[in-house]
Amino acid sequence: MAELEGLEFGKSDFVLLDEVTMEQFMENLKLRFEKGRIYTYIGEVVVSVNPYRQMDIYGKDTIDAYRGRELYENPPHLYAVSDAAYKAMKRRAKDTCIVISGESGAGKTEASKYIMQYIAAITNPSQRAEVESVKNVLLKSNCVLEAFGNAKTNRNDNSSRFGKYMDINFNFNGDPTGGHINNYLLEKSRVVQQQDGERNFHSFYQVLTSNNDRSSHKAVMNALGVIGFSEEEISSIYQILASILLLGNIQFESDGENVQVLGQEAVKHISELTSTDPDSVTKSLLFRTVATGGGEVIEKGHSEQDACFGRDAFAKALYERLFGWIVSRINSIIEVKDYNPVLHGKNTVIGVLDIYGFEIFDNNSFEQFCINYCNEKLQQLFIELILQQEQGEYQREGITWQHIDYFNNQIIVDLVEQPHKGIISILDEACLSVGKVTDTVCLDSMDTKLSQHPHYTSRKVSSFPSCWTDTIVLLLLNYFLSSPFRYSVEGFLDKNKDLLFQDFKRLMYNSSNPVLKEMWPDGQLSITEVTKRPLTAATLFKNSIVALVDKLACKEPYYVRCIKPNEMKSPVLLDDARCQHQVAYLGLLENVMVRRAGFAYRQPYARFLQRYKMTCEYTWPNHLMGSDREAVEAIVTQHGFQDDVAYGHTKLFVRTPRSLFSLEQERAALI
Ligand code: ADP
Ligand code: MG
Repeated sequence: MAELEGLEFGKSDFVLLDEVTMEQFMENLKLRFEKGRIYTYIGEVVVSVNPYRQMDIYGKDTIDAYRGRELYENPPHLYAVSDAAYKAMKRRAKDTCIVISGESGAGKTEASKYIMQYIAAITNPSQRAEVESVKNVLLKSNCVLEAFGNAKTNRNDNSSRFGKYMDINFNFNGDPTGGHINNYLLEKSRVVQQQDGERNFHSFYQVLTSNNDRSSHKAVMNALGVIGFSEEEISSIYQILASILLLGNIQFESDGENVQVLGQEAVKHISELTSTDPDSVTKSLLFRTVATGGGEVIEKGHSEQDACFGRDAFAKALYERLFGWIVSRINSIIEVKDYNPVLHGKNTVIGVLDIYGFEIFDNNSFEQFCINYCNEKLQQLFIELILQQEQGEYQREGITWQHIDYFNNQIIVDLVEQPHKGIISILDEACLSVGKVTDTVCLDSMDTKLSQHPHYTSRKVSSFPSCWTDTIVLLLLNYFLSSPFRYSVEGFLDKNKDLLFQDFKRLMYNSSNPVLKEMWPDGQLSITEVTKRPLTAATLFKNSIVALVDKLACKEPYYVRCIKPNEMKSPVLLDDARCQHQVAYLGLLENVMVRRAGFAYRQPYARFLQRYKMTCEYTWPNHLMGSDREAVEAIVTQHGFQDDVAYGHTKLFVRTPRSLFSLEQERAALI
């Protein structure tokens, strides 16, 4: 419970609600939003509501107020959890992480930037040049990643179209010495197609159009230079961007037999920009090399449709590899080098995860399926770790732990990822089949294998409202929502296969531009060597998320749960239905319950005494007891809630918030 805030701002910690109901949760959320209090705790979890206006709460004064303080000494803030994560890392040499979740436009990326700015502000007080330069690169990397990985969508003008996890390394002084970025599932389909009202990635406009984009372009060029990209690398980046734009100008024409490229100018430019031979460019657009059963290698002409498919896949892959390369280049510059733990002490880490939250649209496809699977996994980790953390605290304080029943969504995670019988396996199997397997056939196979699963259903397995009959639907139930998620399986197989003809890979590998060549190492293989199928998109994603969860699981976690108040980007509107939905799927009520199931509230004896000593005759103005703990016992007994507390080694634990309300009220009446 945060101090320094009156009750007119609502309850600064949801565990203090009279009852854990959606109504009370929403009432408190709304009151605080109206009063400009965008942060509220659930224990140590920060619930944040996007204010959609500049708040005067991030300046130097605020940073100073939070630096080195305990969570409950100030009103709830991102800075308080950042400091808690930093303190745990520095004082207890713990690796920590801050997991930021919420839907698009809820404020995750802004939060991650404030967290990094806070950490940058409180470290390196002696201004050592090498530490400053690491901090600078870490901060500048945001600008570059946003230019290449963000786009305007209908939900957010600056929407991150990739997931990001950044580790910041610290030396024994607690100063940043380097970092590492992992990126997840870049939405590359945006390169060739955007919905009405949406744009391509910012980077394309920055080289082309309006004033705003142009000034961002300058900032990006500056950032690339500061980070340490060479001039050759920077010009290669822009040559690749230009090539992708030019690919968009290429069309095909068929006379019924042969397919021709329309747009020879574009081909010529692309070959110049990518340092490749123009004939080879044309050839890879029109033919694919295949190995026949007899080991013979032949060139097979594309149909017009295949040629279009190939061109688009190439454009998407060029962008994806460019993005991946930029990230790995930044990593190679900021990775901790020459770190000797014997000389320098333990190298500790704070990780910051800014990743897409559950996405539930009217029409959900493969991307939403992957994203929601990722969220199920993170949700599971969240519940496990929160419980573990509670348990750890009780053990340290010598208090008996009571088991809490909670929904373990492992069953849903298994449904998706289990070898052989999970949905991803069934998809992969369909992608590997030789014959023409359609999305519908694949769905049939899921129906056969999964119809008995309590969390699986589809249009064929059970009856659905008639409005759903025109799409093929697959339903996965999310425990935290009363209504199921539904996905249209149309396009699942193509997106999972993510086919790119080997000819394009070879073309790029043969480029005389070393930067480009470096991005396409798999282009080395000739067609007869390409025997193994590349891993599918879903499997690659699954592997990266499993690795991410492993990484997070061995760190002490801190959580920021972001809520988007409305669809209009309005600073004054909190849309009840929209927010309830988010509170539900973020599992926030469960979180409050878990927190309250044991002891909702805890505070070190000295602090408790300081705050409430005026309410008890034995402790005011000074207590004459032996210890702070005895003084606290006197306060508790005088107010009659001795059955509602437990005494830990250093802290008082209070089971229900009601006891504290009465104390708070009494205190308020006295001051
Ligand atoms: P997400 O990453 O969750 O999709 P963003 O962090 O990009 O969302 O936030 C979307 C927009 O909301 C930002 O561009 C900004 O205009 C506004 N916003 C988010 N958080 C804040 C904040 N703390 N203060 C002011 N504006 C914010
Ligand atoms: Mg974002």
